[in-house]
Amino acid sequence: MSDPSYAAFYRHSVESPEAFWAEQAQGIAWQRPWGQVLDRSNPPFAAWFVGGLTNLCHNAVDRHLADRAEQAALVYVSTETGQERTYSYADLHREVQIMAASLQSLGVSQGDRVLIYMPMIPEAVFAMLACVRLGAVHSVVFGGFASVSLAARIDDARPKVIVSADAGSRGGKVMPYKPLLDDALRLSQHPPAQVIVVDRGLADWARQPGRDESYGDLRARHALAKVPCVWVESTHPSYILYTSGTTGKPKGVQRDTGGYAVALHLSMRVIYGGKPGETFFCTSDIGWVVGHSYIVYAPLLTGMTTILFEGTPVRPDAAVFWRVAQQYRVNLLFSAPTAMRVLRRHDPALLQRHDLSALRAIFLAGEPLDEPTGRWVAESLGKPVVDNYWQTETGWPILATPQGFADVASRPGSPGVSMPGYKVCLRNETDGAPVAAGEKGVVAMDWPLPPGCLQTIWGDDARFVQTYWSTYPNRQVYSTFDWGRQDADGYLYILGRTDDVINVAGHRLGTREIEESISAHPAVAEVAVVGVQDALKGQAAWAFVVLRPGQIDAAAAQQASIAAHVDAQLGAVARPQRICLVTALPKTRSGKMLRRAIQAICEGRDPGDLTTLEDPLALQQIPDAIARP
Ligand code: ATP
Ligand code: MG
Repeated sequence: MSDPSYAAFYRHSVESPEAFWAEQAQGIAWQRPWGQVLDRSNPPFAAWFVGGLTNLCHNAVDRHLADRAEQAALVYVSTETGQERTYSYADLHREVQIMAASLQSLGVSQGDRVLIYMPMIPEAVFAMLACVRLGAVHSVVFGGFASVSLAARIDDARPKVIVSADAGSRGGKVMPYKPLLDDALRLSQHPPAQVIVVDRGLADWARQPGRDESYGDLRARHALAKVPCVWVESTHPSYILYTSGTTGKPKGVQRDTGGYAVALHLSMRVIYGGKPGETFFCTSDIGWVVGHSYIVYAPLLTGMTTILFEGTPVRPDAAVFWRVAQQYRVNLLFSAPTAMRVLRRHDPALLQRHDLSALRAIFLAGEPLDEPTGRWVAESLGKPVVDNYWQTETGWPILATPQGFADVASRPGSPGVSMPGYKVCLRNETDGAPVAAGEKGVVAMDWPLPPGCLQTIWGDDARFVQTYWSTYPNRQVYSTFDWGRQDADGYLYILGRTDDVINVAGHRLGTREIEESISAHPAVAEVAVVGVQDALKGQAAWAFVVLRPGQIDAAAAQQASIAAHVDAQLGAVARPQRICLVTALPKTRSGKMLRRAIQAICEGRDPGDLTTLEDPLALQQIPDAIARP
């Protein structure tokens, strides 16, 4: 790369954002160039590439036909059904047009919302791309959600059409989708008039005449369809995506078109080091932001091959990611710490069985990467592990060690330094003043956020301003609601969420720091720490611990040993008042710990919005564990 140093590149991005982003926007095809790079007239709103006309699908698909029509664009690997299928860019172009024509035939046009409630099958990607091709706004709802969560999102997004499937499959077990969708449509105040069902032949489904269409029929009818891209304003919304709901009611993040395309295109080169023609394997789900950005848009905008994986990390065995990586010569792999912690419970020899010579790095994001897990992955695979920190709201990393530059080394425990355009500043919780290097503060960003970040909350500008931009009055500052610390060289360390801080007898402790200490204990596989009301101390820390296999017999000894370990590392003040053993921890569907629900149960309160809870049984263990002496 010709760029001089990352420090200079970054400085340019924040000192002259208009010039910087205008240069970066050359990587994207515009039907009409923008008149203004950034409209600064209405903070905290920011409009990028105003007046420009473009199309995400054109940039992700059509644009590559000249150079790479026969190159693989999408590789579908399902360890659930045993199917593996490769779509070239020409194939993808054809399939997306068929899906677009199908949507059009049901009345979908520019600005309409289309809700996509689907398992990890190619048709889900076709549907996303078909929407943006038409200027329609997709809202992908994670396929694991049940009726109530789905109905809430239908009522918020008000789709004209829903695209779904007969069923998904998880761990070899068929999970029917259509009955859940039917229930959600009954619960919804604003159900759409039309539903498209992709029939995978996994589960029988009841067709409601006049409403439900089989995609097989539509596909046959539109097999030769030619549907041109609809050129839209750069600021036209491309999609709505709901946050994970870890801290409360999910927020409908609204993304633009041009800014997102430019930012993602930059991110693949600068942050991930991905090049056209290479292969990217992101193990996330299209229902999450990581899946939107790094299964679908960034690899395709770059002209790479992307892998769509339907399956779990441990089936048929815990080497499946590496088998896929070998078979498809994967260059870059993106997963989550939670998946790596699952693999860590298995034989490390499984990580060495396959030829990973094409693989350059493993990227992990979504929640804190504890050092033992990061080290385990790096050592077992002999590849660098790159932590990256971001949010649904931002759409692409805020912090990372940029792989497109050779001059930024990673530091253990840190997701890295600020990515281009992000003016990250750690601020004092009370008055918003910047904190000194080494001190703890709220991770905040000065306005404007770079392209690609949320435009607003769907249908609720006031909530956007109130939620993200009002923590410090009279300052145009976006709060991430995460704690951090920054060292003198600009590396940030994430210390947990701002609502995860507890006050024990006047000492403010981050539950994350206690978790970090406990997870370093050799017997521990996973841990969650919450603050529980305590008459004497204000709050007390309670730890819920999953032991590694083979450690269960010596449970009582392990509890004492964990307590002694925290004493030694952090001091007796941080020692949890209770250490409860469980076999699973309650997490969101995206693998994040639902501490607020654990805390509520510990305090005998209602656990609140549980629509994003993964495994209800894990939550049920909490009262049982507390009840045990
Ligand atoms: P909600 O905002 O609805 O409560 P959520 O914050 O879990 O849900 P996401 O946008 O999926 O929804 O998650 C972003 C959050 O995940 C970040 O604010 C941070 O707390 C955490 N996170 C993501 N990546 C990392 C990382 N690399 N290290 C530490 N924390 C991370
Ligand atoms: Mg959040």
